[in-house]
Amino acid sequence: MENKPETKEIIVLTGDRPTGKLHLGHFVGSIQNRLKLQNEAKKSFYMVADMQALTDNAENPEKIRINTLEVALDNLACGLDPAKTTMFIQSQIPEIAELALLFMNLVTLARLKRNPTVKSEMQQKGFGEDVPAGFLVYPVSQAADILFAKANLIPVGEDQKPMIEQTNEIVDSFNRIYGDTFKRVSHLVGETPRLVGTDGNSKMSKSLNNGIYLSDSDETIEKKVMEMYTDPNHIHVTDPGKVEGNVVFMYLDIFDTNKEEVADLKEQYKKGGLGDVILKKRLAKVLSEIITPIREKREKLAENPKMVMDILEEGTKKAREEAIQTLNEVRRAMKIDFF
Ligand code: ATP
Ligand code: MG
Repeated sequence: MENKPETKEIIVLTGDRPTGKLHLGHFVGSIQNRLKLQNEAKKSFYMVADMQALTDNAENPEKIRINTLEVALDNLACGLDPAKTTMFIQSQIPEIAELALLFMNLVTLARLKRNPTVKSEMQQKGFGEDVPAGFLVYPVSQAADILFAKANLIPVGEDQKPMIEQTNEIVDSFNRIYGDTFKRVSHLVGETPRLVGTDGNSKMSKSLNNGIYLSDSDETIEKKVMEMYTDPNHIHVTDPGKVEGNVVFMYLDIFDTNKEEVADLKEQYKKGGLGDVILKKRLAKVLSEIITPIREKREKLAENPKMVMDILEEGTKKAREEAIQTLNEVRRAMKIDFF
Protein backbone atom coordinates (compact mmCIF):
# COMPACT_ATOMS: atom_id res chain seq x y z
CA MET A 1 0.00 0.00 0.00
CA GLU A 2 1.32 3.44 -0.75
CA ASN A 3 1.33 6.04 2.06
CA LYS A 4 -1.66 5.13 4.20
CA PRO A 5 -3.34 8.40 5.23
CA GLU A 6 -3.32 9.42 8.89
CA THR A 7 -6.07 7.68 10.83
CA LYS A 8 -8.14 10.76 11.51
CA GLU A 9 -8.03 11.71 7.83
CA ILE A 10 -9.06 8.35 6.39
CA ILE A 11 -11.98 8.40 3.99
CA VAL A 12 -12.76 4.87 2.89
CA LEU A 13 -14.71 3.83 -0.16
CA THR A 14 -15.28 0.30 -1.38
CA GLY A 15 -17.91 -1.59 -3.27
CA ASP A 16 -19.12 -4.69 -5.01
CA ARG A 17 -20.59 -5.32 -8.41
CA PRO A 18 -24.10 -6.73 -7.94
CA THR A 19 -23.45 -9.62 -10.33
CA GLY A 20 -24.10 -12.31 -7.72
CA LYS A 21 -23.94 -13.07 -4.04
CA LEU A 22 -20.62 -12.58 -2.29
CA HIS A 23 -18.12 -15.33 -1.56
CA LEU A 24 -15.09 -16.07 0.60
CA GLY A 25 -12.85 -14.19 -1.86
CA HIS A 26 -14.71 -10.99 -1.08
CA PHE A 27 -14.54 -11.75 2.62
CA VAL A 28 -10.76 -12.14 2.83
CA GLY A 29 -9.93 -9.75 -0.03
CA SER A 30 -11.94 -6.75 1.03
CA ILE A 31 -14.79 -7.19 3.55
CA GLN A 32 -12.54 -7.87 6.56
CA ASN A 33 -10.73 -4.59 5.91
CA ARG A 34 -14.01 -2.77 5.39
CA LEU A 35 -15.14 -3.88 8.84
CA LYS A 36 -11.92 -2.81 10.48
CA LEU A 37 -11.71 0.53 8.72
CA GLN A 38 -15.27 1.60 9.41
CA ASN A 39 -14.20 1.93 13.05
CA GLU A 40 -11.06 3.94 12.26
CA ALA A 41 -12.03 6.19 9.40
CA LYS A 42 -13.28 9.75 9.48
CA LYS A 43 -15.83 8.66 6.85
CA SER A 44 -16.59 5.31 5.29
CA PHE A 45 -18.58 4.61 2.11
CA TYR A 46 -19.82 1.38 0.63
CA MET A 47 -21.14 1.37 -2.93
CA VAL A 48 -23.26 -1.14 -4.81
CA ALA A 49 -21.66 -0.74 -8.25
CA ASP A 50 -24.72 -1.42 -10.37
CA MET A 51 -23.67 0.90 -13.22
CA GLN A 52 -20.35 -0.89 -13.41
CA ALA A 53 -22.09 -4.28 -13.34
CA LEU A 54 -24.21 -3.20 -16.31
CA THR A 55 -21.10 -2.56 -18.43
CA ASP A 56 -20.84 -6.30 -19.10
CA ASN A 57 -24.44 -7.20 -18.26
CA ALA A 58 -26.41 -4.72 -20.36
CA GLU A 59 -28.78 -7.48 -21.41
CA ASN A 60 -29.45 -8.69 -17.88
CA PRO A 61 -30.86 -5.73 -15.95
CA GLU A 62 -32.98 -8.01 -13.79
CA LYS A 63 -29.89 -9.89 -12.56
CA ILE A 64 -28.21 -6.65 -11.50
CA ARG A 65 -31.35 -5.37 -9.79
CA ILE A 66 -31.89 -8.54 -7.77
CA ASN A 67 -28.26 -8.73 -6.70
CA THR A 68 -28.22 -5.14 -5.50
CA LEU A 69 -30.17 -6.31 -2.48
CA GLU A 70 -28.08 -9.50 -2.19
CA VAL A 71 -24.69 -7.79 -1.96
CA ALA A 72 -26.06 -5.29 0.55
CA LEU A 73 -27.36 -8.22 2.62
CA ASP A 74 -23.97 -9.95 2.46
CA ASN A 75 -22.16 -6.87 3.74
CA LEU A 76 -24.66 -6.18 6.51
CA ALA A 77 -24.51 -9.83 7.57
CA CYS A 78 -20.71 -9.61 7.84
CA GLY A 79 -21.03 -6.59 10.11
CA LEU A 80 -20.96 -3.51 7.92
CA ASP A 81 -22.75 -0.97 10.08
CA PRO A 82 -24.90 1.68 8.35
CA ALA A 83 -24.34 3.98 11.33
CA LYS A 84 -20.62 3.96 10.49
CA THR A 85 -20.61 3.29 6.76
CA THR A 86 -22.71 5.19 4.26
CA MET A 87 -24.14 2.51 1.98
CA PHE A 88 -25.39 3.69 -1.40
CA ILE A 89 -26.35 2.69 -4.95
CA GLN A 90 -24.06 4.02 -7.69
CA SER A 91 -26.76 4.54 -10.35
CA GLN A 92 -28.76 6.81 -8.09
CA ILE A 93 -26.03 9.45 -8.01
CA PRO A 94 -25.93 11.01 -11.50
CA GLU A 95 -23.00 13.26 -10.49
CA ILE A 96 -20.75 10.17 -10.51
CA ALA A 97 -21.58 9.56 -14.16
CA GLU A 98 -20.93 13.21 -14.97
CA LEU A 99 -17.57 13.09 -13.23
CA ALA A 100 -16.68 9.90 -15.12
CA LEU A 101 -17.47 11.61 -18.43
CA LEU A 102 -15.24 14.56 -17.57
CA PHE A 103 -12.41 12.22 -16.55
CA MET A 104 -12.61 10.37 -19.89
CA ASN A 105 -10.91 13.34 -21.55
CA LEU A 106 -7.83 12.67 -19.43
CA VAL A 107 -7.34 9.03 -20.41
CA THR A 108 -6.28 7.56 -23.75
CA LEU A 109 -7.69 4.49 -25.42
CA ALA A 110 -4.19 2.99 -25.53
CA ARG A 111 -3.89 3.37 -21.74
CA LEU A 112 -7.26 1.72 -21.15
CA LYS A 113 -6.31 -1.23 -23.33
CA ARG A 114 -3.14 -1.77 -21.30
CA ASN A 115 -4.99 -2.27 -17.99
CA PRO A 116 -4.04 -5.87 -17.04
CA THR A 117 -7.25 -6.63 -15.11
CA VAL A 118 -9.48 -5.34 -17.89
CA LYS A 119 -7.36 -7.29 -20.39
CA SER A 120 -7.79 -10.59 -18.55
CA GLU A 121 -11.50 -9.96 -17.90
CA MET A 122 -12.01 -9.21 -21.61
CA GLN A 123 -10.31 -12.46 -22.47
CA GLN A 124 -12.33 -14.37 -19.90
CA LYS A 125 -15.57 -12.92 -21.27
CA GLY A 126 -14.49 -13.51 -24.88
CA PHE A 127 -15.07 -9.89 -25.90
CA GLY A 128 -12.16 -9.39 -28.31
CA GLU A 129 -12.63 -6.20 -30.33
CA ASP A 130 -16.36 -6.29 -29.61
CA VAL A 131 -15.89 -5.09 -26.07
CA PRO A 132 -18.68 -2.75 -24.92
CA ALA A 133 -17.24 0.77 -24.75
CA GLY A 134 -18.64 1.12 -21.23
CA PHE A 135 -16.71 -1.94 -20.09
CA LEU A 136 -13.38 -0.71 -21.46
CA VAL A 137 -13.76 2.58 -19.63
CA TYR A 138 -14.97 1.18 -16.31
CA PRO A 139 -11.65 1.99 -14.59
CA VAL A 140 -12.35 5.66 -15.37
CA SER A 141 -15.80 5.41 -13.91
CA GLN A 142 -14.21 3.73 -10.88
CA ALA A 143 -11.97 6.79 -10.46
CA ALA A 144 -15.15 8.87 -10.33
CA ASP A 145 -16.65 6.50 -7.72
CA ILE A 146 -13.64 7.10 -5.52
CA LEU A 147 -13.03 10.77 -6.13
CA PHE A 148 -16.56 12.13 -5.80
CA ALA A 149 -16.27 11.20 -2.12
CA LYS A 150 -12.66 12.42 -1.91
CA ALA A 151 -11.88 8.94 -0.60
CA ASN A 152 -8.21 8.24 0.09
CA LEU A 153 -8.12 4.60 1.23
CA ILE A 154 -9.63 1.81 -0.82
CA PRO A 155 -9.81 -1.74 0.61
CA VAL A 156 -9.69 -4.05 -2.41
CA GLY A 157 -8.51 -7.38 -3.71
CA GLU A 158 -5.31 -7.53 -5.70
CA ASP A 159 -7.14 -7.45 -9.04
CA GLN A 160 -8.16 -3.87 -8.31
CA LYS A 161 -4.64 -2.43 -8.01
CA PRO A 162 -4.55 -1.28 -11.65
CA MET A 163 -7.77 0.68 -11.03
CA ILE A 164 -6.13 2.58 -8.20
CA GLU A 165 -3.14 3.35 -10.43
CA GLN A 166 -5.50 4.65 -13.10
CA THR A 167 -7.27 6.78 -10.49
CA ASN A 168 -3.99 8.35 -9.40
CA GLU A 169 -3.04 9.14 -12.99
CA ILE A 170 -6.37 10.94 -13.34
CA VAL A 171 -5.75 12.82 -10.08
CA ASP A 172 -2.35 13.97 -11.38
CA SER A 173 -3.66 15.05 -14.78
CA PHE A 174 -6.68 16.80 -13.32
CA ASN A 175 -4.64 18.76 -10.79
CA ARG A 176 -2.01 19.69 -13.39
CA ILE A 177 -4.55 21.07 -15.84
CA TYR A 178 -7.30 22.48 -13.63
CA GLY A 179 -5.53 23.18 -10.36
CA ASP A 180 -5.25 21.27 -7.08
CA THR A 181 -8.57 19.54 -6.54
CA PHE A 182 -8.00 15.88 -5.68
CA LYS A 183 -5.50 13.98 -3.54
CA ARG A 184 -3.80 10.73 -4.56
CA VAL A 185 -5.44 7.60 -3.15
CA SER A 186 -4.01 4.46 -1.50
CA HIS A 187 -5.31 0.94 -1.60
CA LEU A 188 -5.34 -1.61 1.17
CA VAL A 189 -5.20 -5.22 0.07
CA GLY A 190 -6.55 -7.91 2.41
CA GLU A 191 -4.57 -10.63 4.16
CA THR A 192 -5.36 -12.82 1.17
CA PRO A 193 -5.01 -10.50 -1.80
CA ARG A 194 -6.42 -13.06 -4.24
CA LEU A 195 -8.26 -16.18 -3.10
CA VAL A 196 -8.08 -19.02 -5.64
CA GLY A 197 -11.31 -20.61 -6.82
CA THR A 198 -12.47 -24.06 -5.67
CA ASP A 199 -11.44 -25.23 -9.16
CA GLY A 200 -7.88 -24.02 -8.67
CA ASN A 201 -8.43 -21.03 -11.00
CA SER A 202 -6.32 -18.09 -9.89
CA LYS A 203 -9.34 -16.09 -8.67
CA MET A 204 -12.55 -17.07 -6.95
CA SER A 205 -15.07 -15.05 -8.93
CA LYS A 206 -18.82 -14.66 -9.14
CA SER A 207 -18.53 -14.91 -12.90
CA LEU A 208 -16.52 -18.17 -12.91
CA ASN A 209 -18.83 -20.30 -10.80
CA ASN A 210 -15.97 -21.42 -8.58
CA GLY A 211 -16.99 -19.80 -5.31
CA ILE A 212 -18.04 -20.74 -1.80
CA TYR A 213 -20.68 -18.21 -0.88
CA LEU A 214 -21.31 -16.45 2.40
CA SER A 215 -24.88 -17.73 2.08
CA ASP A 216 -24.04 -21.39 1.34
CA SER A 217 -25.54 -24.10 3.57
CA ASP A 218 -23.31 -26.58 5.43
CA GLU A 219 -24.27 -29.25 2.89
CA THR A 220 -23.32 -27.04 -0.06
CA ILE A 221 -20.02 -26.09 1.56
CA GLU A 222 -19.20 -29.76 2.13
CA LYS A 223 -20.16 -30.69 -1.43
CA LYS A 224 -17.98 -27.92 -2.90
CA VAL A 225 -15.03 -28.85 -0.71
CA MET A 226 -15.37 -32.54 -1.61
CA GLU A 227 -15.12 -31.60 -5.30
CA MET A 228 -11.97 -29.52 -4.75
CA TYR A 229 -8.81 -30.19 -6.65
CA THR A 230 -6.00 -31.72 -4.56
CA ASP A 231 -3.06 -33.58 -6.09
CA PRO A 232 -4.03 -35.65 -9.15
CA ASN A 233 -1.21 -38.13 -8.39
CA HIS A 234 -2.40 -38.75 -4.86
CA ILE A 235 -4.56 -41.72 -5.77
CA HIS A 236 -4.11 -44.12 -2.84
CA VAL A 237 -4.04 -42.96 0.77
CA THR A 238 -0.53 -44.37 1.07
CA ASP A 239 0.81 -42.35 -1.89
CA PRO A 240 2.96 -39.33 -1.01
CA GLY A 241 1.02 -36.17 -1.87
CA LYS A 242 1.91 -32.67 -3.01
CA VAL A 243 1.08 -29.71 -0.79
CA GLU A 244 2.11 -26.92 -3.20
CA GLY A 245 -0.68 -26.00 -5.58
CA ASN A 246 -3.08 -28.16 -3.57
CA VAL A 247 -6.24 -26.08 -3.22
CA VAL A 248 -7.34 -27.77 0.01
CA PHE A 249 -4.06 -26.87 1.71
CA MET A 250 -4.18 -23.34 0.31
CA TYR A 251 -7.56 -22.89 1.98
CA LEU A 252 -6.42 -24.51 5.22
CA ASP A 253 -3.47 -22.11 5.31
CA ILE A 254 -5.85 -19.18 5.04
CA PHE A 255 -8.85 -20.23 7.10
CA ASP A 256 -7.68 -22.82 9.66
CA THR A 257 -6.52 -21.00 12.78
CA ASN A 258 -4.67 -24.05 14.13
CA LYS A 259 -1.43 -23.52 12.20
CA GLU A 260 0.47 -26.22 14.09
CA GLU A 261 -2.00 -28.94 13.21
CA VAL A 262 -2.03 -27.82 9.60
CA ALA A 263 1.77 -28.03 9.52
CA ASP A 264 1.58 -31.60 10.91
CA LEU A 265 -1.03 -32.54 8.32
CA LYS A 266 1.22 -31.24 5.56
CA GLU A 267 4.08 -33.43 6.78
CA GLN A 268 1.84 -36.50 6.91
CA TYR A 269 0.42 -35.76 3.48
CA LYS A 270 3.87 -35.39 1.93
CA LYS A 271 5.00 -38.70 3.43
CA GLY A 272 1.86 -40.56 2.42
CA GLY A 273 -0.82 -42.09 4.61
CA LEU A 274 -3.23 -39.17 4.84
CA GLY A 275 -6.36 -39.35 2.71
CA ASP A 276 -8.00 -36.42 0.93
CA VAL A 277 -11.35 -37.10 2.57
CA ILE A 278 -10.05 -36.46 6.10
CA LEU A 279 -8.49 -33.19 4.98
CA LYS A 280 -11.60 -32.10 3.14
CA LYS A 281 -13.86 -32.90 6.08
CA ARG A 282 -11.66 -30.72 8.25
CA LEU A 283 -11.75 -27.86 5.75
CA ALA A 284 -15.53 -28.09 5.35
CA LYS A 285 -15.90 -27.79 9.13
CA VAL A 286 -13.53 -24.81 9.33
CA LEU A 287 -15.40 -23.00 6.55
CA SER A 288 -18.82 -23.83 8.05
CA GLU A 289 -17.72 -22.27 11.32
CA ILE A 290 -16.88 -19.03 9.52
CA ILE A 291 -19.92 -18.94 7.26
CA THR A 292 -22.70 -20.18 9.58
CA PRO A 293 -23.02 -17.03 11.74
CA ILE A 294 -22.92 -14.84 8.60
CA ARG A 295 -25.54 -17.00 6.86
CA GLU A 296 -27.83 -16.98 9.88
CA LYS A 297 -27.65 -13.21 10.28
CA ARG A 298 -28.21 -12.86 6.54
CA GLU A 299 -31.35 -15.01 6.70
CA LYS A 300 -32.77 -12.78 9.44
CA LEU A 301 -31.99 -9.58 7.53
CA ALA A 302 -33.47 -11.04 4.34
CA GLU A 303 -36.84 -11.29 6.06
CA ASN A 304 -37.03 -7.51 5.89
CA PRO A 305 -35.82 -6.34 2.46
CA LYS A 306 -37.55 -2.98 2.90
CA MET A 307 -35.29 -2.21 5.83
CA VAL A 308 -32.23 -2.90 3.68
CA MET A 309 -33.55 -0.74 0.84
CA ASP A 310 -34.26 2.05 3.34
CA ILE A 311 -30.64 1.88 4.50
CA LEU A 312 -29.48 2.19 0.89
CA GLU A 313 -31.87 5.05 0.18
CA GLU A 314 -30.77 6.97 3.24
CA GLY A 315 -27.09 6.36 2.42
CA THR A 316 -27.59 7.38 -1.20
CA LYS A 317 -29.06 10.72 -0.12
CA LYS A 318 -26.08 11.35 2.12
CA ALA A 319 -23.50 10.31 -0.48
CA ARG A 320 -25.21 12.43 -3.12
CA GLU A 321 -24.73 15.55 -1.04
CA GLU A 322 -20.98 14.94 -1.17
CA ALA A 323 -21.14 14.28 -4.90
CA ILE A 324 -22.96 17.56 -5.57
CA GLN A 325 -20.32 19.47 -3.61
CA THR A 326 -17.44 17.82 -5.44
CA LEU A 327 -19.09 18.38 -8.80
CA ASN A 328 -19.54 22.08 -8.08
CA GLU A 329 -15.85 22.29 -7.31
CA VAL A 330 -14.94 20.33 -10.47
CA ARG A 331 -17.18 22.48 -12.69
CA ARG A 332 -15.58 25.62 -11.30
CA ALA A 333 -12.09 24.25 -11.84
CA MET A 334 -12.95 23.21 -15.40
CA LYS A 335 -14.65 26.54 -16.19
CA ILE A 336 -18.03 24.99 -16.94
CA ASP A 337 -19.86 26.63 -14.03
CA PHE A 338 -22.11 28.89 -16.11
CA PHE A 339 -25.38 29.31 -14.26
P1 ATP B 1 -17.24 -10.17 -11.08
O1 ATP B 1 -16.81 -11.49 -11.61
O2 ATP B 1 -18.64 -9.78 -11.44
O3 ATP B 1 -16.24 -9.07 -11.39
P2 ATP B 1 -16.02 -10.51 -8.53
O4 ATP B 1 -16.17 -11.84 -7.86
O5 ATP B 1 -14.73 -10.16 -9.18
O6 ATP B 1 -17.25 -10.34 -9.51
P3 ATP B 1 -16.31 -7.80 -7.55
O7 ATP B 1 -17.64 -7.28 -7.16
O8 ATP B 1 -15.76 -7.42 -8.87
O9 ATP B 1 -16.36 -9.41 -7.44
O10 ATP B 1 -15.22 -7.45 -6.44
C1 ATP B 1 -15.53 -6.82 -5.21
C2 ATP B 1 -14.28 -6.74 -4.34
O11 ATP B 1 -13.89 -8.05 -3.89
C3 ATP B 1 -13.06 -6.17 -5.05
O12 ATP B 1 -12.32 -5.39 -4.14
C4 ATP B 1 -12.28 -7.39 -5.45
O13 ATP B 1 -10.90 -7.11 -5.57
C5 ATP B 1 -12.55 -8.31 -4.25
N1 ATP B 1 -12.44 -9.72 -4.66
C6 ATP B 1 -13.26 -10.37 -5.53
N2 ATP B 1 -12.85 -11.63 -5.69
C7 ATP B 1 -11.75 -11.80 -4.91
C8 ATP B 1 -10.86 -12.91 -4.62
N3 ATP B 1 -11.03 -14.09 -5.19
N4 ATP B 1 -9.84 -12.71 -3.74
C9 ATP B 1 -9.66 -11.51 -3.15
N5 ATP B 1 -10.45 -10.43 -3.37
C10 ATP B 1 -11.49 -10.56 -4.23
MG1 MG C 1 -14.56 -8.24 -10.34
